[in-house]
Amino acid sequence: MLARNFSRRVFLRLPTYSASEKLNWLIGFTRIGLFSITYILTGSLDLFRGSLIVEERAIACDVLVLALGSRANDFGTLGVAQHCHFIDSQIQAEAFNATLRAKVTRAVVQDEALRVAIVGGGATGVELAAELSHLLEIASNYGDPAVRGRLELTLLESGSRLLSAFPPAISASTEELLRKIGFQVQTGKRVTAAASEGLTCDDGSAVPADLMVWAAGVKAPDFLTGIDGLETNRSHQVIVRPTLQAIEEDRIFALGDCASLQLPESDRPLPPTAQVATQQAMHLARHLPRWLKGERLPDFGFRDYGSLVSLGDYNAFGTLGRYGLFRGGFIQGRFAQFSHAMLYRRHQQALHGLPKATMLWLAERINGIVQPRIRMS
Ligand SMILES: Cc1cc2nc3c(=O)[nH]c(=O)nc-3n(C[C@H](O)[C@H](O)[C@H](O)COP(=O)(O)OP(=O)(O)OC[C@H]3O[C@@H](n4cnc5c(N)ncnc54)[C@H](O)[C@@H]3O)c2cc1C
Repeated sequence: MLARNFSRRVFLRLPTYSASEKLNWLIGFTRIGLFSITYILTGSLDLFRGSLIVEERAIACDVLVLALGSRANDFGTLGVAQHCHFIDSQIQAEAFNATLRAKVTRAVVQDEALRVAIVGGGATGVELAAELSHLLEIASNYGDPAVRGRLELTLLESGSRLLSAFPPAISASTEELLRKIGFQVQTGKRVTAAASEGLTCDDGSAVPADLMVWAAGVKAPDFLTGIDGLETNRSHQVIVRPTLQAIEEDRIFALGDCASLQLPESDRPLPPTAQVATQQAMHLARHLPRWLKGERLPDFGFRDYGSLVSLGDYNAFGTLGRYGLFRGGFIQGRFAQFSHAMLYRRHQQALHGLPKATMLWLAERINGIVQPRIRMS
């Protein structure tokens, strides 16, 4: 897909997109000095379902920055793509939400049980589990106090503990809380197949489920592995040097979830998180223009400000990272919940600016008062 010619140009061949796939990008160009840079802006166009929107085409550029993100990795597990929901994008999350509401309604009206299984005990799976349980508690106020009891909730994790990126104490507290709110937590269980009636695990056991969500790791877009000259790992991430340049290719940069960077002082690559992606983007935005003028490109250094996991209204846990006032500590309870909420607001502010972020906050507060806590449409 990517080829080089002799005039220090890089060609990025973009795939043909049909409208049945979601077209979710726009492309723009800019020039800095002698170099033309291709940058890819993401948008969300899905207007012409079923027809071809853009032909495959080649775009010339001197420097290429890959920031393609990642998507859920089903590791090729049988039946997962057909039978499990993913929650990578807003569209997928909304599809899951709609199916969940329909199935809960059916369970109430038909007086049936509903079995929900979440695969993956990382931050995404754990946060979803807590939110799901909270949603059902709210739903029990809407005419069927027994609705919570109709649900069998299971969380499956292949590793020996939940939240493996967090200290063991946080994993243990999280597991205890999820059990308390009614989840069956099964660790050390690798799912080997999914079917319409549920999941099969590597020990031969079956987990019957009516609704399954897959949140068991991420991978970069598959096509990165097919690009001539780029070194990628098993998750299709581009392996980069501390300057964020691809191995042996100075003019191709990769950052965020689609890149794999192991810093010299670390024993594992940086995790695919927003914190890493943002810092890498800031680093490149600062230094790329200077590098284009001939200056040296400094190495990227990650500042770990800690991680937070929110268990809805129940609790939140966090590590404070290696920087900041309380470096290396743990937090939980109200302070962790407040920190999580503040992080979300900071993210909104970074995206929209302070005035709009403040209005969004106000709008959410007002909606919280005037709208029902759960919607059926
Ligand atoms: C449900 C969920 C919850 C998460 N919660 C947290 C959290 O609490 N904290 C945290 O730190 N991280 C969290 N993450 C991870 C975080 O979202 C990612 O680490 C971060 O978004 C990575 O940034 P990125 O710029 O590399 O990729 P993205 O933010 O994914 O951006 C990549 C963009 O590239 C576009 N793109 C993809 N392919 C192409 C193509 N071929 N051509 C053009 N454009 C393309 C995509 O549409 C996308 O818009 C969460 C992820 C998920 C799915």
